[in-house]
Amino acid sequence: MPTPAPVASAAPTARELLASQREAFRAALPVAAATRRERLQRAIDLLVAHAEELCAAMREDFGGRPEVFSLMNDVLGALATLKVARDRLDTWMADEPRASVAPFDQFGATAWVRYQPKGVVGIIGTWNAPVYTLFAPLASVFAAGNRAVLKPSEVDPRTADLVAHLVTQHFAPEELAVVTGGPEVAADFAAQPWDHLVFTGSTIVGRKVMQAAAANLVPVTLELGGKSPVLIGAGADIANAAERIAVGKAQNSGQLCVAPDTVWVPAAQRDAFVAALKTEYARLYPTIAGNADVTPAVNQRHYERVESYVADAAAHGARVESAGGSGAADERRMPLRIVIEPPADSAIAQHEIFGSALVLRSYHAIDEAIAAINAGERPLALYYFGNDAAEQAKVLDQTLSGGVAINDVLMHAALEDAPFGGVGASGMGHYHGREGFVEFSHARSVYRAGSHDPRREWGMLPPYTDAFKTMLHQGVTP
Ligand code: NAD
Repeated sequence: MPTPAPVASAAPTARELLASQREAFRAALPVAAATRRERLQRAIDLLVAHAEELCAAMREDFGGRPEVFSLMNDVLGALATLKVARDRLDTWMADEPRASVAPFDQFGATAWVRYQPKGVVGIIGTWNAPVYTLFAPLASVFAAGNRAVLKPSEVDPRTADLVAHLVTQHFAPEELAVVTGGPEVAADFAAQPWDHLVFTGSTIVGRKVMQAAAANLVPVTLELGGKSPVLIGAGADIANAAERIAVGKAQNSGQLCVAPDTVWVPAAQRDAFVAALKTEYARLYPTIAGNADVTPAVNQRHYERVESYVADAAAHGARVESAGGSGAADERRMPLRIVIEPPADSAIAQHEIFGSALVLRSYHAIDEAIAAINAGERPLALYYFGNDAAEQAKVLDQTLSGGVAINDVLMHAALEDAPFGGVGASGMGHYHGREGFVEFSHARSVYRAGSHDPRREWGMLPPYTDAFKTMLHQGVTP
């Protein structure tokens, strides 16, 4: 009888990985600080040892993403989060004493909160920051003592495959594993009964993820996007604001969740701002075609999506100014298009731009701009430029966004000691810092009874007495 040809063993599914990780998790409790630190260190070592390969994969996936940006954003950004988690772990993990219950505290009853790992966490990442959106949440997930399965974006297939390969070299599949694939694999991934699910991506897919998670009562952290506004205050330094907005918008050619999307400027300053923004963008990118510092649109679909927003706005009568020289369609490198006062029903006014264009709107009183921002979904970031303390307080008090930067853009996302996350349609939950550790831990309250229980001798047990009832009534005070 002929020997059957060997059948290639299929990669394990999300369900299989979850089952094996969960079993390993339960068998190895508690998860000591040293174990957590060692896992974080291995993730750090993976990024350090393979930084160049990862940057090369991201360059290829984008058709020419600059190595400098991949190093800054994806490699160093993820490393910073992992190192903070490694170095602060012991403080975060410590039990927190809490006030006990009167009158039992008089007899030695104590209470504390302990932070326990939830178990196995699924992490779904995006294409725009394909290493960062996996490894930055992983820092908080590992710090909290969990195991994890990653699902990279299929839009960056080389980076996804490389991450999958490197993870198998540095981790046992029971600790950290990767599932690759497109929307079907992603939908199946979101439908698993994880102990927690982290999703970074668009608001529209975020809704589907939350629905899938709800079926299993899986808690979710949703890191979504939105139209992050910039409010340039009445007395702001226009040249300075233009420079910082140009620098921020140029990063990854606007393909960042916290990229400035819509800029509000005092009407009298509008044309001066347009001129300054064009000057500052051209200082960064005097040419676009053939400029290796310019990140291309990640693929043809996204290139055409942004081009169609600009064309649609122009067709609806918006003025469009271009900054940074001519684009190159064959390279998918785009100038910055400044779309001035597009109608509210145009595509660019309705959708997150997520590319090399921004909307400019003017206002006469800052209240108009605040009202317009509040009429939309709550954004991931909000930026304010100005030095008027009362105006700054008004902007902070009367708006809500995931995070804020004042007199700059993007920088709040680099705060390692503060939570990062959205609110409303821009997401829920956090990673980074202690808040990230808490997010992926279960805060478990523990009460420990004292040596003596006074309830019987104090008449607090049945048969109840009038004296006890009177005592309770005396406790009903404002
Ligand atoms: P996307 O929503 O299209 O895809 C994200 C991930 O979801 C991919 O891995 C994809 O495979 C997966 N997916 C697709 N269908 C799914 C389903 N039914 N169930 C579960 N997962 C599914 O987003 P994108 O285009 O990769 O990224 C761009 C968006 O992400 C923008 O809106 C941007 O603002 C946002 N973003 C947010 C952050 C943040 O930290 N808040 C960071 C980066 C990007």
